[in-house]
Amino acid sequence: MKMPVLFRSTNRNSPVVGLKEALLRGQAPDKGLYMPEVIPRFEIGEILSLKEKPYHEVAFRVLREYCRKVISDDLLQAICREVYDYEVPLEPAGNRSFVMRLDRGPTASFKDFAARMMGRLIGHFTRQDVHPLTILTATSGDTGSAIAQAFFGVANIRIVVLFPVNEVSDRQRKQMTTLGKNVATIAIDGKFDDCQALVKRAFADPELKDLRLSSANSINIGRLLPQSCYYVYAYSRLTKDGEPIVFSVPSGNFGDLMGGVIAKRMGVPVSRFVVATNANDEVPRFFETGKYDPIVPSRVCISNAMNVGHPSNLARLVDFYGGQMDEVGAIIKAPDMERIRADFFSVSVSDEATRKTIAEAHKDAGLLLEPHGAVAWNGLQSLFKSGLLGKDALAVSIETAHPAKFPEHIKKILGIDPVLPPSLQGIENRQESFLRMEADYAGFKNFLRSEYA
Ligand SMILES: *Cc1c(COP(=O)(O)O)cnc(C)c1O
Repeated sequence: MKMPVLFRSTNRNSPVVGLKEALLRGQAPDKGLYMPEVIPRFEIGEILSLKEKPYHEVAFRVLREYCRKVISDDLLQAICREVYDYEVPLEPAGNRSFVMRLDRGPTASFKDFAARMMGRLIGHFTRQDVHPLTILTATSGDTGSAIAQAFFGVANIRIVVLFPVNEVSDRQRKQMTTLGKNVATIAIDGKFDDCQALVKRAFADPELKDLRLSSANSINIGRLLPQSCYYVYAYSRLTKDGEPIVFSVPSGNFGDLMGGVIAKRMGVPVSRFVVATNANDEVPRFFETGKYDPIVPSRVCISNAMNVGHPSNLARLVDFYGGQMDEVGAIIKAPDMERIRADFFSVSVSDEATRKTIAEAHKDAGLLLEPHGAVAWNGLQSLFKSGLLGKDALAVSIETAHPAKFPEHIKKILGIDPVLPPSLQGIENRQESFLRMEADYAGFKNFLRSEYA
């Protein structure tokens, strides 16, 4: 009989907990990140046998390993069917290279894979609670819409999204304000930092304790595990035998990459990951020198979802390689740098190189990439050029957003206007509804108490 997987903290100073507690807490009490205590392992034959299965079935097989005795197979399978109702294309890109497009979800970003699954799991665990959970989130654009979409319609959960009135695009705003139901949106007369300050103050306010406020932050283990499924999916589709594969991952907070590392530990024979960052190169430098220096403030690049100077998942990576990093980025115990260097090929790609890659990939391989996917594609080409990888090696480069989300860059570089994916079409014409408030805590608090007490 297989035992349920338990979760421990990277800071090693909190009790191990089950899936439910790890999900609802987000962060461990010692401020560390939850990690599976044991990584379940598949035989290569089991992975290859998934070849003909639809994505939702592959996700079910992978996630079931972490949900044993906690969520029934029937329920998990139903959730997977419901949240993964879109395509996961593997586009041929010359020789044996492919681009995996993770941009067909409701907000056209790879974050949909994780956010939607986490939304359903948290919804399941809190469905019978007497008082509903209220999830507060501040957004500068994209995270808010992914979270709003993920929890939209989930029973016993209410979402409040704060956004800076003049700092989000019309399209970004409409992705949040046209949902309705359990999603409330508030335009704040202020900047993103004002929104975040209001949310933080509410979380810390003892007078709001009864409201059951919660955050759906990016370090939640519930956002990590679903990100290992597409690595298993891609591998099972693309090979007949147990040959090695390379994945190139455009990285900011390193959650996507950690999903890949988990998939490798589960049995996918990944020979190397390309860790591709933009000019925020603190991790490539760390891998090279063994010395870690966060970048403060982070550098502004066109692949803006990767403008991260201190990745929130780095402590997990260090942990996986036998080291320990605390919540502020101090290395308590050095990881095995030799193994890290063998497993990862890391590159930092400038904006100039990113633009050039968008043009070249279009001309040479017929690929339409946006800035994040172009960083990954550039990194993969660097690995081929290094001579470490034969030109006929099996390789997958990950595309994390739909090119139509970055029309100004694509127009400027390629002279074409990418067609909106179905999920974003027609949004202009939908009815919007949102509140407007000053960046004033007393007013915000009154609102929360009157609406959510
Ligand atoms: C969040 C994001 C990334 C970076 O993913 P991490 O898991 O933070 O490394 C890359 N591309 C896009 C489009 C994103 O939204």
